[in-house]
Amino acid sequence: MSVPVSQYVLKVCGRCDLACDHCYVYEHADQSWRAKPKTIAAATARQAARRISEHARTHRLNQVHVVLHGGEPLLLGQDELREVISTLRSLIDPVTRLDLKIHTNGVRLDEGLCALFADYGVRVGVSLDGDRGANDRHRRFSNGRSSHPHVRRALSLLRKPEYRHLYAGLLCTIDVENDPIAVYEALLAEAPPRLDLLLPHATWDYPPHRPPGQRTPYAAWLGRIHSRWLADGRPVPIRFFDSLTAAWQGRPSGSEGAGLDPVDLLVIETDGSWEQADSLKTAFENAPATGLDVFSHSVDQAAAHPGVAARQSGIAALCITCRKCPLVRACGGGLYGHRHKSGNGFDNPSVYCDDLKILIPQVIAGPRTATVTTRHHDSALAAHLLPDRVFDLLATGPGDADAMTSLADSQWSIIRALVAKVAAGLDGKRSELRRAAVEGWMLLSALDAERPEAVREILTYPFVQAWAMRCLLPATSADFDLDCAHLAGLAAAAALRAGIDTELILPVREGFVHLPGVGALAVETGTGCTSAVRVSPRGLSARRGTGGWQAVRHVTVGKMSVTVEDIDPFRDCQAWAVAGRLAPRTWKAWRLALAAAARQLAVELPAYASAIGAGLRSVVPMRPGAAGRHQSGTARHAFAAMALALPGHVDTLSERLVHEMQHVKLTALCDLCDLFDPADDTVYMVPWRSDPRPIEGVLQGTYAYLAVAELWRFRSRQAPDGEARRLSPMYQSWVEEGLETLLGAGTLMPDGERFVNGMRSTVKAWADDG
Ligand code: SF4
Ligand code: SF4
Repeated sequence: MSVPVSQYVLKVCGRCDLACDHCYVYEHADQSWRAKPKTIAAATARQAARRISEHARTHRLNQVHVVLHGGEPLLLGQDELREVISTLRSLIDPVTRLDLKIHTNGVRLDEGLCALFADYGVRVGVSLDGDRGANDRHRRFSNGRSSHPHVRRALSLLRKPEYRHLYAGLLCTIDVENDPIAVYEALLAEAPPRLDLLLPHATWDYPPHRPPGQRTPYAAWLGRIHSRWLADGRPVPIRFFDSLTAAWQGRPSGSEGAGLDPVDLLVIETDGSWEQADSLKTAFENAPATGLDVFSHSVDQAAAHPGVAARQSGIAALCITCRKCPLVRACGGGLYGHRHKSGNGFDNPSVYCDDLKILIPQVIAGPRTATVTTRHHDSALAAHLLPDRVFDLLATGPGDADAMTSLADSQWSIIRALVAKVAAGLDGKRSELRRAAVEGWMLLSALDAERPEAVREILTYPFVQAWAMRCLLPATSADFDLDCAHLAGLAAAAALRAGIDTELILPVREGFVHLPGVGALAVETGTGCTSAVRVSPRGLSARRGTGGWQAVRHVTVGKMSVTVEDIDPFRDCQAWAVAGRLAPRTWKAWRLALAAAARQLAVELPAYASAIGAGLRSVVPMRPGAAGRHQSGTARHAFAAMALALPGHVDTLSERLVHEMQHVKLTALCDLCDLFDPADDTVYMVPWRSDPRPIEGVLQGTYAYLAVAELWRFRSRQAPDGEARRLSPMYQSWVEEGLETLLGAGTLMPDGERFVNGMRSTVKAWADDG
């Protein structure tokens, strides 16, 4: 049984006064307009209104939407338009609420028409593709003249106070050759109440324009607008983004091009024929036709047409690829017409699938994430603004708990985007590991809607980002499928945190399934590389478990609570020579040493200790004796973690904690701000290394030794005759030399200068202190 239809496109004129070369009515495969009447007859409009009205009455619809369309509907003429509109009002208004709109190119809109629309409550949507250059690329008269000034004049009319309530919004057809930000700004300058960004109609046989070498230009184009739109605080609704988000959150998308809602839209042509959506005009001649018309067939009969009915079956009507796609809830397989390919019709993903797989994760990640390109990542990253106060506090050395929260928030946006990108790259390959990954992603997505705090806690575990980067750079992965399936381990850990009862297929590594940040369970796999695992509020059990459970161990002292990570398969982020599972005696030594160092730092450098307490989540033990010269380290893709070799003295351990935490903070800050010119490949001598360092190395070292110098200043005050007497001035001179090099390099960006001057103010305070 078909779904009641509440949306109608009524074609009142089949011709146009523009000759846009991207027009799907005149320039695409379906040329049926040639055989249809130029304009709708009054009798046809009356019969269409009767059909809509009787359908609304039968199905007790409390609202119907009718859009007057073309060609160019204003070519019908003001008197004829009045007749059509008054007919619609007189026949439909008594039965249900009629939302009446007109979509026009704006060229002929004048005061008289605006007054007519005001009389009858007809809202006006106008097509505009951006600034003059963007609009002129396609939207011209047949003699090549620009339509841009005419459209802008129409929009200025709609902005007049007496007509402002009629202004429904702008419809912009995307051309990726146009600068997206210039288009966005030009559209916003017209003060529309809403924007619609339309993918140009295309099919697999007639693919969309893609500039050479660009596989997903539409994701990039829309992604840039999305980022800017978020940064602007979403000044106007943009339908495509809002529809994807609504569909992902389980709400009606309000759009044919997003989500899985049944499509309840019919087109009535100028000859009274019932047709399917206009997007089909790109597929083949007569593709939208149903063979039915308003004179002989009711709305119910038109809605029962197999082409219309097929789009009311939700996920079941989609191709197998879309049915298995983790993004299907938001995407819905894209516009129906965009799926067409000769040979198998509409049984395909959208021709924009590759773009949608990149764009949708960004859009559904919400306002916390925006796409920018930085030197560290090539795709979606956070565009967070760090408050000046927080930036300056970090620059002077320790930062505080707020600074760590800001950095952690920005890293969370990065991780969300990276994990979504890993998931978007999963294909429907029928392997156990891929299936585990897809199911894990689906569970994570569901949990994110219901228990976002559990998902955040697990995904922000330091080694998740390192894992995602390994999946996104397959050359770095020894077993790509096994690595991708780690998604299932993340989902299991999040489910455990959320107290959910579920069963999952998890990848097995060296006899263990891993739940990041939680632990690892020993299992038997037989010949496979996966294991079915039950997660419940009581814990974890495997069908073929051996009962061996290795919990991730914690050290908690005062405000510091860190894991001592010796089992996570992705903890070796930087060729750190990591230790394996610590034997009980070694673990005890680590526990006591970390606790002693934390207590000592709380006394020696309380501000730094507080930042460590707020920001450090994990310490990775290095193999004893294997660390060599590198006794400690951090990694770009493991925020909030550091690797350490256990030193013999607590003084050394606390110094390393402080030193490495500076690297953790500065690395995260570099993801948010441009501190130096990344193109500068000059190297500089520094006092703490025998080899010359790039500008970033100088900055990192200076910042790390700023904290170390602070520590030894304290110690020299406590024991003026000990080793501190030698070390304190040495570290201070290293910092001073580093600052001099940085300020003299000439490659600091404005934020970099501000940051270095923040460090310098700390050093100056030491001098004032004596
Ligand atoms: S104004 Fe619309 S209907 Fe007319 S040619 Fe341009 S795109 Fe086609
Ligand atoms: S992203 Fe591609 S595979 Fe996934 S639902 Fe959309 S069109 Fe289908």
